[in-house]
Amino acid sequence: MGNCIFCKIAKREIPKEFTYEDDDVMVFPDIHPVRPVHLLIIPKQHFSELITVTDPTLFQKLFIVVQKMVKEQGLEKKGYRVTINGGGAQLVQHLHIHLTGPLDKTVKI
Ligand code: 5GP
Ligand code: ZN
Repeated sequence: MGNCIFCKIAKREIPKEFTYEDDDVMVFPDIHPVRPVHLLIIPKQHFSELITVTDPTLFQKLFIVVQKMVKEQGLEKKGYRVTINGGGAQLVQHLHIHLTGPLDKTVKI
C-alpha cells in the first residue's frame, strides 16, 4: 500500500534491522517500547487490520513466530503480553502484533 510505513519497511524502502524475518513475516522492535521487550510481529503483506485477514494460515504463521520470539527473548517465565489493536484503536493501519514483557499480574491491560 502506497503510504504504509510497514509496507515500506517490508519492501526495504526504509532500512530496518529485523529481529526475525521469513518470506511472510517480519519482526522488529517498536520505536517507542513500553516494556524492556517490545517487538512488532508483522505480516509482510498488507492487511489494514485483524478482521480483514481471510486466510487462516497467516494467523498460524504469525503466532508460530510469536511463540519463537517469546522463547528467544527469554519471556517464557517472566510474563508477557500479546496485543493487537484494531477497530480504529491502532495508530498504524497495517496489521501487527505487539509482544511486550517482562511483566507480572499487577500490570493491567
Ligand atoms: P498501534 O497503536 O497501531 O497498535 O501501534 C503502532 C506501533 O508502531 C506503535 O507502538 C509505534 O511506536 C510503532 N511504530 C510506528 N512507526 C514505527 C516505525 O517506523 N518503526 C518502528 N520500529 N515502530 C513504529
Ligand atoms: Zn502496509
